[in-house]
Amino acid sequence: MSEESSKKRLINKFDIILFILLIILGACAFLIIKFTRAEGKTVNIYSDGELTESFSLDDDTEYVYIWEDGNNVIVIENGYVYVSHADCPDKVCVNQGEIKNDGETIVCIPHRLVIEVDE
Ligand SMILES: [Zn+2]
Repeated sequence: MSEESSKKRLINKFDIILFILLIILGACAFLIIKFTRAEGKTVNIYSDGELTESFSLDDDTEYVYIWEDGNNVIVIENGYVYVSHADCPDKVCVNQGEIKNDGETIVCIPHRLVIEVDE
């Protein structure tokens, strides 16, 4: 075995260790963000990128968002916000379920609607 090839093998092993460390670090960061994320207090409704309505997450309410010939029913209940009904073709907004943490969003692309939880 030449000196050159053994050096190359050492670098490869080091790369693998580094790679594993990065994965562990990434997983830790993900968990820290997930568990320390603050609960939000406000629900902001953006229509076409513009802030149109704000609600408190503490007050249970139902808001019907009307977009051209469509609508989304936004429900705030027990500190969570979700879309209970929508007539958009993909229903992604309904399937996104409940959110409550600062920075989380529900997006309805067909209706250009963004629901964001803020602190
Ligand atoms: Zn939708």
